[in-house]
Amino acid sequence: MTDYRADFPALTQNINGHPLVYLDSAASSQQPAVSIDAMTEYQRYSHANVHRGVHTLSHRATDIYEGARDAVKAFINARSRSEIVYTSGTTEAINLVAQSYARPDLQAGDRIVISHLEHHSNIVPWQMVCEQTGAELVVAPINERGEVILEQLYALLDERVKLLAISYVSNALGTVNPVQEIIAEAHRREIPVLIDGAQAVPHVALDMQALDADFFAFSGHKMFAPTGIGILYAKERLLEKMPPWKGGGDMILEVSFDGTSYNELPYKFEAGTPNIAAAAGLGASISYLQSIGMQRIAEYEARLLDYMTTALQDIEGIRLIGTAANKASVQSFLLDDIHPHDLGTILDHQGVAIRTGHHCAMPVMQLYGIPGTARASLGFYNNQDDIDRLAEGLLKAREMFAG
Ligand code: PMP
Repeated sequence: MTDYRADFPALTQNINGHPLVYLDSAASSQQPAVSIDAMTEYQRYSHANVHRGVHTLSHRATDIYEGARDAVKAFINARSRSEIVYTSGTTEAINLVAQSYARPDLQAGDRIVISHLEHHSNIVPWQMVCEQTGAELVVAPINERGEVILEQLYALLDERVKLLAISYVSNALGTVNPVQEIIAEAHRREIPVLIDGAQAVPHVALDMQALDADFFAFSGHKMFAPTGIGILYAKERLLEKMPPWKGGGDMILEVSFDGTSYNELPYKFEAGTPNIAAAAGLGASISYLQSIGMQRIAEYEARLLDYMTTALQDIEGIRLIGTAANKASVQSFLLDDIHPHDLGTILDHQGVAIRTGHHCAMPVMQLYGIPGTARASLGFYNNQDDIDRLAEGLLKAREMFAG
């Protein structure tokens, strides 16, 4: 595949005297220049508030903001632009569903099912809503490779379950869950499904109509776009029934002290002035990704992940955490008894950026009986040289700790 690194200004710099090797895209991916430029262009010449403005700048801002929504709709093949709700990120999208969809109907005796693989943002909003309503949060177990045990998950899906919330790709272990099959099984039992797609969107070609998820949440900053913007995709008939979550400007049709009527979808869920610059960046990042093709990206990354797994396995003293048969982009590991934080610091001195810690997935770490891991994660701008540099850095760390 073409080397796309030059499209990303951040990747062309030296860090601590070495060309940067960026292996932390699962936390935040880098942004291509075309996306940064779209934001700057908006900020310089079209900055104004969206909707309702009669002047030219406001029209431009609205076109940029709503154009990005159309880009998201096409990118994930949603049926309608009404199904694309802007949020500040995955976390806010999941909280919106917890508070606006789940909370009004949940009662004591009801259940929400999640998996043991989840990021805190697909755990805590459900704990909160269960506390608020007396419902119960039930966790489907994973095996030692880090795969959800499907028979046990399906056995949990009885008539008490009001929602299944599960990640597409685990940020801590890289496990790809068979979400298509999981959604079909849940639907067979008339249980709606929320997919935490934060780690899937930058790696997998998506088709909401084929996937049939009821809710699908993701973040701009993990898909080569800026922070401060994310998307809740939801089926229109569900959004129609859900009450607004936040009140304020833009989400209303008419306000009087006798009462308020709400705006049409998706604006009912978008109170207040939004992050227009971030939408400009998101739209441009999507066009950029489409020009490369998500299928090509997925195929390239699969080969690169194989290369990384083999390179890491070849290092004496390495322990890979998360060895699922189907994985995307992420490898967690430990090296001898070197603290992951020390590993991360030694690698940073060599210009290699990885993440260390619990990766906001403490229950996963608890299951393995470890406080955290070192985690290398890939984007399509990485190549085999990056992985060789990671391996060299780890060998150096080993030498340092041995001596
Ligand atoms: N879910 C998963 C699987 C994630 O990896 C992340 C980010 N690490 C989130 C949810 C939360 O995303 P954000 O912080 O952008 O809201």
